[in-house]
Amino acid sequence: MAPSIAYPASPPQTPISFSLKPQKSISVDVVEIIEEEDPLDNERARLRRHLGLSNPNEPPCETPQIQPLFFIERVPDTKGVTCSLPGCTQGIQHGDLRFALNPGMGGDTWFRSSSDYYHIPCFSTLADFTNPTYLNLIHPLTRHTFKHRGLKPSSVLDGSYLVPCGVERLILEWKYTRAIALDKRDGVYDENLYRLDPSVHDLLYKAGSAGYWPEGRPAGLDQYEYYVLLKMCAVNEGDGWNLFEQFLGKGEGEGRDLSEVLRGWERGFRLAWGREADNEDRKEGPPLLSPTAVRAIRRLSAIPTPQVGFNRLYC
Ligand SMILES: [Zn+2]
Repeated sequence: MAPSIAYPASPPQTPISFSLKPQKSISVDVVEIIEEEDPLDNERARLRRHLGLSNPNEPPCETPQIQPLFFIERVPDTKGVTCSLPGCTQGIQHGDLRFALNPGMGGDTWFRSSSDYYHIPCFSTLADFTNPTYLNLIHPLTRHTFKHRGLKPSSVLDGSYLVPCGVERLILEWKYTRAIALDKRDGVYDENLYRLDPSVHDLLYKAGSAGYWPEGRPAGLDQYEYYVLLKMCAVNEGDGWNLFEQFLGKGEGEGRDLSEVLRGWERGFRLAWGREADNEDRKEGPPLLSPTAVRAIRRLSAIPTPQVGFNRLYC
């Protein structure tokens, strides 16, 4: 028989007593549930305005003088910083990956001299990466992009700020597969927009595998970049290991969060190089890496630096 419900509950008239007999009625207190505003909503709205995107019930925003971009970079060895997400009190340690929002929301929007820094998961709670506008603003900080971040060649020639090959390839592939998934979701997918020249496609996806025989440098690629993609950033280690299968999951790139992908890489990196495990590693246990995976991750830990001045490889 269903129990009866006293509604509202009457206050207890006698001191509390305990009984082992089954209760035939249930008292329910009436509690008013007040939906609390997410404290990050204001910060999300502030980011939208910073990008020139209007918020509901607000007048249209002005177009930013300089397009803000989201760079993923390594914290230089001398600069541990705090995270800009309200409520996050953890520092971002040197050597860690971080998001640099450039220009920052509090800085001068005419210049790229200011940045706001975030842990990767923290910024992912502010920026909506299921929105193509946000997705397009993500860039790994590399030999190709450091100038767009307002950095001088002298600041990055020793590899400072720049991400290693493995991170570069993972971010670009994640962005590529996520963009395709969003276009399909929105009914605007055009295969032609994503089609690569066959020689470039093979270089990007087959380099490093046993059966790959490059047919020469694709048009428009200089000798150094060709070498980087063919050797340093090759995603295969023979036929036994593939970077995307290890960290993106085969065909699942659109489904995984970027922070999850990069976290997987950082765990693998620490294990491959015998670095000390962090608290999360200890909780999750070490990733299973084959000797081939260890060799590949070590190779993909290299950082291609810009070819400028004495550093340039002439061809
Ligand atoms: Zn944070």
